[in-house]
Amino acid sequence: MIHNRTESEIALLREAALLVGKTLGEVEKHIRPGVKTIELDRIAEEFIRDNRAVPAFKGYCGFPGSLCISVNEQVVHGIPGNYELRDGDVVSVDCGTILDGYVGDSAFTFMVGEVSEEVKMLLRRTKESLYKGIEAAVVGNRVGDIGYAVQSYVESFGYGVVRELVGHGVGRKMHEDPQVPNYGNRGTGTKLSKNMVIAIEPMITMGKKEVFQERDGWTIVTRDKKSAAHFEHDVVVREGKAEILSSFDFIEQNKLL
Ligand code: MG
Ligand code: MG
Repeated sequence: MIHNRTESEIALLREAALLVGKTLGEVEKHIRPGVKTIELDRIAEEFIRDNRAVPAFKGYCGFPGSLCISVNEQVVHGIPGNYELRDGDVVSVDCGTILDGYVGDSAFTFMVGEVSEEVKMLLRRTKESLYKGIEAAVVGNRVGDIGYAVQSYVESFGYGVVRELVGHGVGRKMHEDPQVPNYGNRGTGTKLSKNMVIAIEPMITMGKKEVFQERDGWTIVTRDKKSAAHFEHDVVVREGKAEILSSFDFIEQNKLL
């Protein structure tokens, strides 16, 4: 079922999404070589709870963390643990909050220390592809227009678009209809209507698009072990121009990418 939200519901979704942005900004302050990903998770959980919200991921289908932390060839759904970040790593931090009954869901891929130029370009172009997708999220377009915008942009650089995981509607639940793939054909799929709220989240690989799930039952990894990137915003479908609810403004590295 697809929801078209009232402005008061959108205001609550905006608060939840903004808290995710602030949490990512807080996490970034602690990203450096030597930090364990579990430490980042604790920082995020404390910050979310201090802001009278609940980490949306914790316990979701049994997921143990408040963040999904996915390093290098890990694409998404990495479980926080004892891995210590290293100089040159890239780390996708995906965060969800539930505030006053509404969900925020946003992700940013951070650089740890000095990252190779080719991986930095992967991050930059993946982030750009997110905004290409957002440009297509307007009334009258279809879900396939979003996927087409993301896919045609990143494939022009020879990157891969992960097929197994997609964006989604977001509201009182984290994953609502419709599904929002990062690939597709123009003019196909569900019609986008005013005040639908969706999470757009390109998951892009530097090499081949094939991925597999680790034996932990969660972590998604590229088959060729090449790096991946992941950026996510929650957006409201509007006439002419989508409104972005989440924010990277609290993230310093946003200026570097
Ligand atoms: Mg997410
Ligand atoms: Mg999501």
